[in-house]
Amino acid sequence: MSNYELVCGLETHIELSTKTKIFCSCTTEFGGDPNTHCCPVCIGLPGTLPKLNKKVVEYAVMAGLATNCEISPVSKMDRKNYVYPDLPKAYQISQYDMPLCKNGYVELSNGRKVRILRIHIEEDAGKLVHQRGSTYVDYNRGGVPLIEIVTEPDIRSIDEAREYLERLQLVMRFLGISDCKMQEGSMRCDVNVSVRPQGTEAFGTRTEIKNMNSFTHMAKAMEYEVNRQIDLLQSGEKVVQETRRYNEEDDCTESMRGKEDAHDYRYFREPDLVTIQVSEETVAQLREKLPELPHQRLERYRAEFGIPEADAQQLIKYRRIADYFEAAIDGVQNPKVVANCMIGQIFSRLDGDSAKESFQVNVTPENLNALVKLLDEGKIKMNLLKATLEKMLDTGKAPGELISEADMGGVDADALKSVCEQAIASNPNAVSDYLSGKEKALKAILGSVMKATRGRADAMEAEKLLIQLIQGANAK
Ligand SMILES: [Zn+2]
Repeated sequence: MSNYELVCGLETHIELSTKTKIFCSCTTEFGGDPNTHCCPVCIGLPGTLPKLNKKVVEYAVMAGLATNCEISPVSKMDRKNYVYPDLPKAYQISQYDMPLCKNGYVELSNGRKVRILRIHIEEDAGKLVHQRGSTYVDYNRGGVPLIEIVTEPDIRSIDEAREYLERLQLVMRFLGISDCKMQEGSMRCDVNVSVRPQGTEAFGTRTEIKNMNSFTHMAKAMEYEVNRQIDLLQSGEKVVQETRRYNEEDDCTESMRGKEDAHDYRYFREPDLVTIQVSEETVAQLREKLPELPHQRLERYRAEFGIPEADAQQLIKYRRIADYFEAAIDGVQNPKVVANCMIGQIFSRLDGDSAKESFQVNVTPENLNALVKLLDEGKIKMNLLKATLEKMLDTGKAPGELISEADMGGVDADALKSVCEQAIASNPNAVSDYLSGKEKALKAILGSVMKATRGRADAMEAEKLLIQLIQGANAK
């Protein structure tokens, strides 16, 4: 795409984790037998009246505050009319010209700001299930509260799109207002894509790719769509404004329908709901209640604890991990040790993103904290800490159960010398390799010293001593 530039905006739907639906008291719980989490209100039977869930407004305001939005003191709900089987009322209650939040932004790591045009609240639709050649509909999801976050077309690369979405996901998770699980549909994204010749200002014609439910699919769909549009333009054809879907099997996007305009939906004010008013006091109270956000934690880890940015990024990437770290560093002299234990030994036991997301390990943060404090107090050495942490990960036991008084005593100088001499005597090949310049061979000898002392010896001291002994013997 060397001569062309991507212009992209995202519309992200996030399901809010309120206990009940937006207009009734049905549960929002994911799953359940089809059509068991519904009532006359959420499937819109005639004569029913919706009642707005206050928590939905609070959560949406929190989302707005955390993304630097203005909160509208007055907003309203509207009907968006369309006929589709997932929507039993034939209209969705949403917000049209008066959204709850507007004019915010999310800042990317390269310093660019992706402006947020609006955040509005609305109800989710039901789900169509295609089985054995028939289509069924499950209304359990109908009426689950959503926020839709719409950006300006400020995104200029696929990487920026991904980073924006990752940051948004993290912020919402820190706020605790959504689990943002793309695989369960609690975060979904429509991507608007157009291209224009480098250096020009005017926007090209855009297409919208609907309902992306994974980062990987989004990146692939965008790449395909960018190339498709460039090919069209280069061969003198035109991009048609339309809605497209990503086809996973063929890794391409394909046309779904022509693009609707707002007038196609015949928006009008929802007559059954009153105006939404959010007072300045309410906004102030919610602002007060906002937790520390990911970028603020990252900065604190760097500035206060001296944790390198790349490590800090890993610690804050998932809320549960960040909270575990917070609990494990309580009263510890050097939080960097805790960070290293987590990123090294603990993370190596986790397989992939979903394991990190659910983050369950055998070691409680209190036990890790107790272990690191033993190091702080000079009662154990770093290698015993590491060996003990492995055992803790295996058994779930507290450090006190695994480390004896004798272990804490370490290994005295005479004992260490004799263990080192034995290790040298029983590893003649490694010794001659080391003497011929293979420095790595020393690790094998050190390994047997650590084994013989059950990890109690100071590895640095032992290494120094080994070198002295080997070189001393060789000089004779
Ligand atoms: Zn209901």
